[in-house]
Amino acid sequence: MFIKLVNMKEIAANLKVIREKIVAATAKRPSEYNYFEPQLVAVSKFKPTELVIEAYEAGQRHFGENYVNELIEKGTSQTLVEKCNEIKWHFIGHLQRNKVNKVLAVPNLYLIETVDSEKIAAALDNAWPKFRKSNDTKLKVMVQVNTSKEEEKSGCEINEVSKLVRYVTENCKNLDFLGLMTIGMYGYDTAKGPNPDFIALKKCKDDVCTELNLDTKKVELSMGMSTDYEHAIEVGSNIVRVGTAIFGERPQKA
Ligand SMILES: *Cc1c(COP(=O)(O)O)cnc(C)c1O
Repeated sequence: MFIKLVNMKEIAANLKVIREKIVAATAKRPSEYNYFEPQLVAVSKFKPTELVIEAYEAGQRHFGENYVNELIEKGTSQTLVEKCNEIKWHFIGHLQRNKVNKVLAVPNLYLIETVDSEKIAAALDNAWPKFRKSNDTKLKVMVQVNTSKEEEKSGCEINEVSKLVRYVTENCKNLDFLGLMTIGMYGYDTAKGPNPDFIALKKCKDDVCTELNLDTKKVELSMGMSTDYEHAIEVGSNIVRVGTAIFGERPQKA
């Protein structure tokens, strides 16, 4: 199943290297970003539960999954629930309304990063009271933006972001709007200059904050993956989602 086997020691070593690079990139940011530390999300898609546990035991707490079934399989695994009681799951894949209840039932679900329509926001808002542990906890969500305007990518279109954020903040009393997320185009060569997806997401945030009168410090950005997380941090990313650099190559999806 694996192109490259990654063992326990390697995962701990990879995490150590990445954390050091994050610290170095953080130090290179313009001082306007000094009010926050970037957060590393370990993306474990296509990787077995054992490797999630290894990374957890190496100190990693935030994990991301793209596929509902994989999130459920790992997130509800008895061993994982016992060994990783502080795990925080980010759902980072495309979410369909008929899967909302399944995702919300996962223990230690922390954040849905991929809200891209009013329909899915409404479905999450309506369903959350059935799942939350206490009455006043809101479900954290981010709005996914299709900054690269590629047809096959999901996400809300740039010119609709403000409308969707307004909907979430004004109409969805059970949701806590955390910020904006993008996947962006793969394999951008940073030698060509700043990544246009990162610039576009930052601009979206500035526009949304102006239009809706939100505090820019309270709107986070989730951007940057294995090949470009350092660069993303340098231009203001709050959350980087790293898979391959921690867990090794993934098999190509058929
Ligand atoms: C797979 C995936 C990642 C991680 O990608 P890597 O290149 O392996 O670091 C991050 N975000 C999303 C949404 C993904 O699907």
